[in-house]
Amino acid sequence: MSPNAQFLDGHSAVLHAAEITVAAPEITIALDGDTLHWPLDRLREVPDQADSAELILAQADDPVARLITRDAALIQAIRASSPHLKKRPPARGRRRLAAWGAAAVASVAAIIFVLVPLMANQLAEILPPEGERALGDATFDQIRSALDDTGFGALRICESPDGLAALDKMQDRLTLFTDLPYPVTVHVLDHPMINAFALPGGYVVFFRGLIDAAETPEEVAAVFAHEIGHVVARDPTRIALRSAGSIGVLGLLLGDFAGGAVVLFLAERMIQATYTQEAEANADSFAHGTLAQADIKPSALATMFERLRARYGDEEGIVAHFMSHPALGDRIEAAREADAQLTAKSRSILNREEWRALQDICG
Ligand SMILES: [Zn+2]
Repeated sequence: MSPNAQFLDGHSAVLHAAEITVAAPEITIALDGDTLHWPLDRLREVPDQADSAELILAQADDPVARLITRDAALIQAIRASSPHLKKRPPARGRRRLAAWGAAAVASVAAIIFVLVPLMANQLAEILPPEGERALGDATFDQIRSALDDTGFGALRICESPDGLAALDKMQDRLTLFTDLPYPVTVHVLDHPMINAFALPGGYVVFFRGLIDAAETPEEVAAVFAHEIGHVVARDPTRIALRSAGSIGVLGLLLGDFAGGAVVLFLAERMIQATYTQEAEANADSFAHGTLAQADIKPSALATMFERLRARYGDEEGIVAHFMSHPALGDRIEAAREADAQLTAKSRSILNREEWRALQDICG
């Protein structure tokens, strides 16, 4: 025997030397101590090979056995005489799977496609804080590179020391009476969009545009308080779990946060963050309470919303997440009413110098 191919019976992982001869209507496969006959019209090429000089053959209706050859003359002869070579080859092991695994497959599928999305809320509760934090890190990095116009690197984090100190002061006053699930980390990104959002794991992100648009530090603080409301409710984690879908959720549970596509998709969702009406209303009322406790009038949130509305109107496709429902008008009214209900005192959150430092945080 002079072998010109290898044969894999599929039951063991051993490659057997084989000599193939082509003579219509079949090929003859001579093995050590055995001879097989595969009809030419039942030969199928197994696609998806890395090596184009190699031909891998299967037989229609045989899910496992394979013939592998690199013999150019033989490959040419087989290609010339096999009419259905390019038809779909049998999926490896499909039948066996069907035989013993139908029930198992069905239950796994049910978990992945039905149960996991339904459980997004509960999963948000059980996801370990480190997991949320890692998800927040990955999403934040992704947002920075996605929004970078230059196409190089990532959007700059603004961090003039005086600006950061002002932001810290604001955060301390806002979180003094708040029970946080994890410490809040705030960043300002050098981007003109008037927006702010929260990410899983306690990140609050401002765009420079929002600070530029605000006329008082209290307006920035009001937005800050609203975002802390999302953090406390763990809305970003919840929306991430729901948006990422099952595959993403499995990734989260298995600790794989770097799964590119999922994270990119999440980054988009986070910036646009369309939470439910209920989540927005809750974050607003959290902000009202927090602001009042910090001696800031909750109506600062109304003022900020009015600026947004004046700037953007009610047009569709606004990226700022504040522009989502419930109707901005109602939210403005609610913030104004909170002034009276909570009898908020008024004490400026930053002095003039600190406010200027915050406005210059991007240099
Ligand atoms: Zn919100």
